[in-house]
Order: sequence, then structure tokens, then C-alpha cells
Amino acid sequence: MQPLRGTKDILPRDIILWQHLYNVALRILSLSNYQEIRTPILEATSLFERSIGEGTDIINKEMYSFTDQGKRHLTLRPEGTACIARSFISNKLYQNSHIQRLWYLGPMFRYERPQNGRQRQFHQLGIECMGSKSPMADAEVIRLANNLLKELKCKDYRVEINSIGNIKERKVYQKELIKYLEPYESDLDHDSQKRLITNPLRILDSKNTKTQEILQKAPALTQYLDNSSIEHFDLLCNFLNYLGIEYTINNKLIRGLDYYNYTAFEIKTDSLGTQDTICGGGRYDSLIQQLGGPDTPSVGWAIGIERLLSIIQNEFNLNVKSPEVYLATQGIEAQKQVWGIVNILEKENISFELDLDSNSFQKQLKKANRLNANICLILGDNEIKQNNITIKQLNTGVQKVINYSNLIEEIKIEKTVLA
Ligand code: ATP
Ligand code: MG
Repeated sequence: MQPLRGTKDILPRDIILWQHLYNVALRILSLSNYQEIRTPILEATSLFERSIGEGTDIINKEMYSFTDQGKRHLTLRPEGTACIARSFISNKLYQNSHIQRLWYLGPMFRYERPQNGRQRQFHQLGIECMGSKSPMADAEVIRLANNLLKELKCKDYRVEINSIGNIKERKVYQKELIKYLEPYESDLDHDSQKRLITNPLRILDSKNTKTQEILQKAPALTQYLDNSSIEHFDLLCNFLNYLGIEYTINNKLIRGLDYYNYTAFEIKTDSLGTQDTICGGGRYDSLIQQLGGPDTPSVGWAIGIERLLSIIQNEFNLNVKSPEVYLATQGIEAQKQVWGIVNILEKENISFELDLDSNSFQKQLKKANRLNANICLILGDNEIKQNNITIKQLNTGVQKVINYSNLIEEIKIEKTVLA
């Protein structure tokens, strides 16, 4: 049996890094008062259609959608922001405070061709700062992405930002872009030809060299931005400069989701080949209103966890932890009394593994060594009769017999010796 194409098991040896990432995110994001939120993986298909927008790759071809037994149209979420926006509205989160800072980590689903850095079930860590128009909010979220990546020892990444204006400005620009590109239509790559009709701005994103050549003389979106767009962007750049966060302005950066306005940004790395974007984000001022909520200008980002982990995994030497104590028993009486030891170890916060095979002590000791435990506690007929336990230090082989009542003390001594 194999997992489905484009899905992966995250095994115990891998999960340690995921746990580390979760803990770092929790610590750093809590400091800036971001609260974790977990929304359902299943949502109504219409939520994504209404937010992500027609003509985007996600809506056109990447959604895992189906009809359930009640004939409802449902989709396994392809991204987090629309779900958070829905939750913000359903739960009237704006009633407590007009600013909401939220973060999430969880699986996303997109029907794409599986390859390096691209899965059908993958995970995103994301944050959303909701309720502020200020470019300070944009700076806050970019700063947090930067902090997180630093803390996770991610190197060789670069921040690219752009101002994509508002919907009105983009509409005017889109017309001009189409006008410019139409004479070159047959020279564009196949995807861009289709996008000329479905989503012309995304042609700017094309990786095709011929298309990029054609685009060199195309009108630039910046020329179509009005004062408020430009002011917002200039202030953000000022804040980033002050923070010492390096960035480049990429005039061609257009995100694949319709709901963005003003700021769009991506964080890319040189260590990943073609799937080189680890973080994507931007400002979305009208999404929540568009979904029926109050006017809530917002900004956020999402990091692709698998891509991030693949570049940082060598920076961490995290191993599955061995239990400190192995509990070897023989005979029914010992198997009863060992539960008392289990309770003591648990109370003392000492990790252990209980033998379940009832083999000879020799085999049980072998197992303890294989597990790399520090000490083995041996409980057999002799020990039971005399109310004793045998303690064996596994690295030295030294063993001694102690009275059951001294167990905690002895283990504490062993612990300090081993520490
Ligand atoms: P791409 O251009 O690589 O398809 P995207 O613009 O579709 O990315 P976003 O929707 O911005 O991606 O998602 C944010 C991040 O989630 C991406 O930068 C990437 O790290 C990760 N991501 C997106 N799709 C996948 C996928 N199919 N498999 C693994 N990670 C993904
Ligand atoms: Mg994509």
C-alpha cells in the first residue's frame, strides 16, 4: 500500500522538526500577540470561488472539490486566508477588538502535478493581521516572517515586494497591458496566451524567457498607481529600511490570488531550484467585506512548511529521544509491581519504556541497549521476594540491588550522574 500521489507521511523521525517549528512559531508569534486559530479543513466551495477569484490557478484547476451525501458542494481548503476570513465573520471576532492578530498551521490541498517542492497535500504556517490599513501592519507581518526564518536558521533567502495598487488601478492597467501584449500573442508561451483572457496580470509572473523579453517594454503597473497606493508603499519601504530588513522591489511580482491590493510580497530562496518561493503574502483590504463582513483591511502571509523544512533540516540535529529508563520484568508478580515504578517515574518526569515481550532478562537488556536507554530497572522473582530492584547502568554495565523504598532517591542520583 502506498500513500496517494502527492501526499506524504510525516514519520516520527521527521516530526521532531515540525514540533520544533511549531514551538518557535508559538513563541515568536505570541510575543507579538498573535493568537493561534484552527478552522475546519472542509469548507463550502463557494467560499473559495468568492474570495480567490475566477481565472486563478487554484479555482480553475487545483481544487479538491466534491459533493457530499447531502448534495453540498465542498472543498478541501487550498489555502488559509479565505477560511480565516470566513471564521472572522462567522464568529464576529471583530466584536471583541477591531484588530485581530491570528496565526495558523495546517494542511492545504491543491491538485497540482507532484514534484520537488510541490505536493497535493502540503502544509502552511500563516499569519493574518486584520483591521488595520496602516503600512505598520504590513511591516509588522514582514518583520515576523523574517524573524521566524532567522530563528529557524533559514539562510539565503530574499524578500521581494511590490505594490499592486487597488482593483480600480489594476483594471485600468490590465487594459493597457492587454493592448500592449495582443500584437505578440502568438509569441507568448501557451499559459500566457490563455492568461491573456483569464488573468492577464499573471503573465507578468511567467518564467518563460521569450515572454519575459516581450514584457520588457510593457507598461509598468507602478505608472498606474495613484497617490494613496504610492504613499502606502513608500511608508512600508521606509519601515523596512529602518528595521534593516533587506528587500528588493520586483515590479513584476503579482500574486496568484485576486484578493490582494497594495502590498504583495514573496520570500524566495536560492536553495530550492524552481519551486523557490517559501513565503507569499500581501494586503487584502476588501476580502472580508466582499464575503459579507465589516470593512476590515488586512495583511498576512503563508509559508510553505515542506519547502521551508527541506532547506533547514540540515541545520538541526534533532533525533528521536531515547527513553531514560528501560523496565525489564519477569513473572506475573513483577509485571504487577512494575506499575508502581511506572507511576513513580512519571511523577519524577523520567521517560521510560516498559518491556512488553517477557523474554529472558538477557534479551530484555539487549533491547534496552538497542534503545539507547541510560539505565535498566530489573524486577524478577528474587527482587520481588526481597522487596528489591536491580538498577543497571547500561553504558558501564555496573549494577546494584536497592530497596524498593529507595527507588526515587537512587534514580535521582543516577540522573545527576548521567546529566
Ligand atoms: P507557487 O507559485 O509555487 O505555485 P503559490 O503562489 O501557488 O506558489 P501560495 O498560494 O502563495 O503559493 O502559498 C504560499 C506558499 O505555500 C508557497 O510559497 C509555497 O511555499 C507553499 N505551497 C504552495 N503550493 C504548494 C504545493 N502544492 N506544495 C507545497 N508547497 C506549496
Ligand atoms: Mg501555485
